[in-house]
Order: sequence, then C-alpha cells, then structure tokens
Amino acid sequence: MSDRNGAIIRVEHLTAGYEDAVVLNDLTFEVYRGEIFFILGGSGSGKSTLMKNMVGLYRPATGVVLIDERDIAAAEGDDRLDTLRLFGVMYQNGALFGSMTLLENIRLPLEEWTDLPSEAMEVIARMKLQLVGLTGFEHHMPSELSGGMQKRAALARAMALDPQILFLDEPTSGLDPVLSADLDRLILRLSKTLGITFVVVSHALSSIYSIADRVIMLDTDTKKIIAEGRPQELRGHSNEAVRNFLDPQSADQTG
Ligand code: ADP
Ligand code: MG
Repeated sequence: MSDRNGAIIRVEHLTAGYEDAVVLNDLTFEVYRGEIFFILGGSGSGKSTLMKNMVGLYRPATGVVLIDERDIAAAEGDDRLDTLRLFGVMYQNGALFGSMTLLENIRLPLEEWTDLPSEAMEVIARMKLQLVGLTGFEHHMPSELSGGMQKRAALARAMALDPQILFLDEPTSGLDPVLSADLDRLILRLSKTLGITFVVVSHALSSIYSIADRVIMLDTDTKKIIAEGRPQELRGHSNEAVRNFLDPQSADQTG
C-alpha cells in the first residue's frame, strides 16, 4: 500500500505497561522508511517496553502500532505471519543459543518460518554471516567469539528472513568504544546498502551522533515523549533534561 508520508511504522496513542502500572502514556510517532531511528531515555523510562509493544510481543493497553499499515496486535493467521516477517529483532541481552554453532543459530528462523530445502538455508545463513563480516566462523560456538562478534552474529540471525525493519535493543551495550563504532558502521552500511529501516534503543551518545537520523526521547516521570527530531537540532532543546542528555559538556559548564 502506498504511504503518503513514507512512514513504515505508525504508533498512535499508545498506552502500555504492566498489570496496573502504566509505563508509556499516549505516545504518537512515526518511523520513516529507510531511516535509522533511535529511542532514547533514562534507565527504566520504558524503551524496552516500547520496543516490545512495537514488535507485538506485548499488546498495548490502548492505541495501535501499525507496521506497513497493518495492526501488529490485531493481525491473525497469514496476515500476522506476513507482518511478523517484515522485521527482525535483537532483544536487550538477547543471546545466541550457546549449544549451537553460528550457522545453526542463523538457520533457526529459516527452519521455523520457511519450507526451503536444507541447502538453501545453508547458503542463506552463510550469506548473512558474510554480511556481518563473520565468514570463516560458521562452525564456531558463540562462547568462542568476542562480545563484538556475538553481537554481529545476533544481527545476522535477526536478518535471516530478509526483514525490512530491524529492532535493536541496546546493541552496543557491553562493547568498548572501538567495537561500538564498528557495530555502528555495520548498521549504517546495512541501512545504506539494503535499505533496512532501523529502530535502535540506545543511550550511547557516540552512536546517536554518528548514525541516528531521528530520535525520540522518553521521560520516566511524565511517561511521554519529551523530544523528537534530529539529534543535532535537539541540542538546543527547551527541556533541560534533553539538553543535558545530548550535550553533557554544556551541562557540566553551567553547573
Ligand atoms: P528501559 O528499557 O527504558 O530501561 P523498561 O521498558 O525495561 O525500561 O522498563 C520500564 C518500567 O517498566 C520500569 O519501571 C520497569 O521496572 C518496568 N518493567 C519492565 N519490565 C517489566 C515486567 N516484565 N513486569 C513489570 N514491570 C516491568
Ligand atoms: Mg531496556
């Protein structure tokens, strides 16, 4: 379906949380096709909760999430499967299966979701490992890899089904600055070469300034979006918390 303003995801009046605790109150925003979109906010502000509602793992209390114009929570049967196949997810702390090789880990979604012959799955899994620079490590176990390589393998697994959108929850957490920058470059390359839309949860300023096209910032107290836009433009934001987050040096200077 054609889309007037290029949105691939629309979140409309989303209110969500757990039991009776509301974590996100009436959020409305869009993610445009092909962009690298960051979800920012302090620890506990609901970034992971938002991502889980966006991928249909949780059902919002009210409001809707439309992915490619389809309601992710309401879709059923083939419609639901078609929608789920549009995206891949890397959860926070989401690990590879430790008892399987990298190749087996990446074949898993293909075995679960497709009827491809075994050889085809093998070829696809190898291609995905190549995309993230892990050719030669097909038969390694995750524990034999560095943290940065494990993240890249997890990214390869999230891409197994050729998603249009990748959701990454804190992909660079636990990585040193050099490995974080490597992963950022990989995300940028996948975005540019494959046109994948990225929704990234992060609070790494270096990542935000080097790869984010647009960001939203969640606020724990109001449970709302307190800032939305391009990172450079938000440095002069009227809200002090937003300014301090995006420009910590100026916060230091003023006190
Ligand atoms: P963030 O990812 O921004 O750190 P989360 O989305 O993980 O924040 O958490 C937002 C709020 O929801 C926190 O107060 C957290 O304690 C609470 N929370 C997260 N997961 C659960 C859960 N499974 N059950 C109940 N409360 C939760
Ligand atoms: Mg989180």
